[in-house]
Amino acid sequence: MRETWTSHEAWAYECQSCGNRWQEQFDVVHDGRAATVYTSDGRPCVPPWTGHDCPDCHSGNLYSAPYQRSPAVPRSRHDGDPRLMSRLRRLHAW
Ligand SMILES: [Zn+2]
Repeated sequence: MRETWTSHEAWAYECQSCGNRWQEQFDVVHDGRAATVYTSDGRPCVPPWTGHDCPDCHSGNLYSAPYQRSPAVPRSRHDGDPRLMSRLRRLHAW
């Protein structure tokens, strides 16, 4: 029986161009294998370590690192974004 759970991650960013610093929050959906799906505001998004721009100077030259990692908390598999769930279902995640 395969478990699916969601954890919360905060990532810290530092722009290498202008020195701007900020954090972004992500929910991470784990399907029990290596695959994980990062979501922001309930929508799937790119992983926190790639594809992000500085909100000030729009440089993609960023330093990023996990700011804090809370323990994964098992959550109902019927929870969450319907489109993400159907996508996971197509991946045979559950
Ligand atoms: Zn910047």
